[in-house]
Amino acid sequence: MAVYFDNAATTKPCEEAVDAIMAALTVNYGNPSSLHRAGLDAQLAVDGARKSIAAALGCESRCILFTSGATESNNLAIRGAAAAYGRRKKKIVLSSVEHPSVGETVSDLEKNGFEAVRVHPRDDGRFYAADFVNACDENTCLITMMQVNNETGYILPVIETFSAVKRRFPEIITHCDCVQAFMKLPVSTKKLGADLISVSGHKIHAAKGVGALYVSRGTRLTPVITGGKQEGGIRSGTESVPLIAGFGAAADKLQPTINQRFERVSELKRYFLERLAEIEEVKVNSPEDGSPYVVNISAVGRRSEIMLHFLEKREIYVSSGSACSKGAQSGVLAEFGFDGRRADSALRISMTADNTESEIDLLVQAIKDGYSEVRG
Ligand code: PMP
Repeated sequence: MAVYFDNAATTKPCEEAVDAIMAALTVNYGNPSSLHRAGLDAQLAVDGARKSIAAALGCESRCILFTSGATESNNLAIRGAAAAYGRRKKKIVLSSVEHPSVGETVSDLEKNGFEAVRVHPRDDGRFYAADFVNACDENTCLITMMQVNNETGYILPVIETFSAVKRRFPEIITHCDCVQAFMKLPVSTKKLGADLISVSGHKIHAAKGVGALYVSRGTRLTPVITGGKQEGGIRSGTESVPLIAGFGAAADKLQPTINQRFERVSELKRYFLERLAEIEEVKVNSPEDGSPYVVNISAVGRRSEIMLHFLEKREIYVSSGSACSKGAQSGVLAEFGFDGRRADSALRISMTADNTESEIDLLVQAIKDGYSEVRG
């Protein structure tokens, strides 16, 4: 049996999601826009899932739009807000450790007349709300920051930042990429103070290719995809009923156990760190108070890919930093103050509550063996 420790890259779909997907593929296959019974049934499935995601985020159903994933949600939030609010206000503030679906999108807007201000961690490797607030001014249309960094598990001070920004500049639109927090830490639209929130299905045991964007009432977005005006006219295209139904089913399943699972994964993280202390050459890159779901470590002196493939031979799957960068260094560890040697040897271990102590034992043993058997 393979040992899967790459849950920040993607998760195994749960049975409930698979059943909901199958039902929508085989029985409830209508087009939600059709006016007959089959269309209505499909629309009901989409509305049910919308309610589930809304309940998980603590908002009204009408504030949820379905997309093809968080990459699209982030693009729609940023490009849509920039187009709606950026005619005269040309500044976008973001953290320097955003996922590429945020970072690259903002870079693209920079080519079209927007100015990006990237806020960096201080020397202690931490972000401060005051630095984000100071980066904002009357010319800022949007601030975007992630809640949990996907490579290290670091939790950014989103709540403090957004409330301070809104106090000083009520007109600035606030967007949060909550992909690595959703269904792992309690995420509530009210607490977060975000106008826009992106989440993804495949990180919460649903299928790949579905996500959602929360849009608070009163926030205007210019559509990025135009067409048949589905999803309130903001995101055209026939809704993927199967994937959306699966997303709703996974959210329903996970929502009641967020706290329990958080405790369990925290226990697993504690155990992992305790066992890792046996290997002198291994350093931990994740902060103690980060999300327990992501633990980033460096087997200093051994390149990430070499260790990753050594572990793979034992059917233990981890990631070298972030899967999205396919092994290319993303620069996130450097942002957090780690040198090149540390970044070159980084491994990301990302867990679920279904992982076990004995799987961690196998992983730690494999890291020990890998460290002594491989070079470079
Ligand atoms: N943001 C973060 C923080 C992520 O970890 C990911 C997935 N790697 C994404 C956005 C993109 O999500 P999706 O795969 O649904 O496009």
